[in-house]
Amino acid sequence: MNEPVSKPVPVPSALSAPYWEGLRAGELRLQACADCGQLRHYPRLLCSHCYSRAHRWQVASGHGRIHSYTVAHYAYHPAFAGELPYTLVTVDLAEGPRALGRWLDAAAPAFGAAVQLVIVHRESGPELAFTAV
Ligand SMILES: [Zn+2]
Repeated sequence: MNEPVSKPVPVPSALSAPYWEGLRAGELRLQACADCGQLRHYPRLLCSHCYSRAHRWQVASGHGRIHSYTVAHYAYHPAFAGELPYTLVTVDLAEGPRALGRWLDAAAPAFGAAVQLVIVHRESGPELAFTAV
């Protein structure tokens, strides 16, 4: 008999801990470069625009538009096999950075459509998801 397989869980680092704390508190935190103001998502050590290490955290509005999507029909980790098929969307956040998350609606996502972030709290941890506005 097969044992249930657990989903991989994020292990916050000193760099990403504020991001994960934000999700658990119900907010998506973006890094804002303290030198040039460039916003980035997901947490990274350096600003890709000016290579500064200095940053502050800024809470995203949760608004965005669909950039693209894919429907997963194959589980690259066995813990996700029971959820197939599921849809993943890339969203251009209103603040600029692009984010990846689950698509929650039954209808297929439409390119360019306005969406709202939903932070889903699962046993394996918080997860970004989106729904049509
Ligand atoms: Zn910068």
